[in-house]
Amino acid sequence: MRRRKALILSAILGASLITLAIALNVGWILISWREFALVALGIILFGLIIAGLTLNTTFLIREIRRNELQDAFLNAVTHELKTPVASIKLYLETLKNRDIPEEKRKEFYEIMLADSNRLMTTIEQILQAARLREQKVESRKVELVDLIEECIKTTLLRHNLSDSAIKFSYSEKLFTEGNKEELQTAFLNLLDNAVKYSLPDPKIQIRIKNSGKRADILIKDNGIGINSSELKQIFKRFYRAMNVPENRKGTGLGLFIVKTIIEKHGGSVWAESRGNGKGSTFVVRLPKKL
Ligand code: ADP
Repeated sequence: MRRRKALILSAILGASLITLAIALNVGWILISWREFALVALGIILFGLIIAGLTLNTTFLIREIRRNELQDAFLNAVTHELKTPVASIKLYLETLKNRDIPEEKRKEFYEIMLADSNRLMTTIEQILQAARLREQKVESRKVELVDLIEECIKTTLLRHNLSDSAIKFSYSEKLFTEGNKEELQTAFLNLLDNAVKYSLPDPKIQIRIKNSGKRADILIKDNGIGINSSELKQIFKRFYRAMNVPENRKGTGLGLFIVKTIIEKHGGSVWAESRGNGKGSTFVVRLPKKL
């Protein structure tokens, strides 16, 4: 009887212990799952918050940068528009109010003409940057050697340079397809920059290379160079590099226009430079037309 009692007691104890063990186990599992679920939820929410914050900060920085660029552009454009007009006005007033000798008069006219040209270039650039994306490419055959030669002539005239400032080499005439005026605008912009950023003594070399299905046009200068971190940035609208001297005015639109035109023609353009003060080379790659 005692044994039975002891057996029942131990059975009850055993069952109770087993129940307790199961309850503990299941309870632990349940609680742990909850915790695990809570931890997982926490991690997901935390991740989402961090991602949201990162995204927000990125947008904010981009927006601030864009505003800065826009401000820099507005300043540059205002300066580029106001300076020549102010200069022309001053010369006109002088001509109107004073007796100026014939010699001086001619000099004034020359300066006013140069100022009007500068004004026209800025206005053209602004209009072109706004217009370019909409226009379609014409499919006409364009010969590159003649086109570049014309651009060189214009650049030499515009900047009052001697012929030796720009050297041109090519092995054969090469054709591409597209709009001659637009391509001219692109190369004139590149040549203008090559001169502007290499003053006072620009030495520029242009070479046309036959690269299979493509024609490569290389424009090399001995100017201020470009830091490697800015080689891509300079093609963005309004972007002007850190090392640009105060007196080289510009809108930061030229290379954006170049890139838009060249890409519209199925080509690509990039800049190479060994850095500050070491000159730059701009490479334009266009599809060849046989
Ligand atoms: P802008 O000359 O009006 O500033 P661009 O779009 O033509 O604008 O050029 C953008 C920037 O690229 C310039 O401000 C200058 O910092 C840099 N850059 C362009 N061409 C050259 C060059 N040949 N040598 C050195 N830097 C250049």
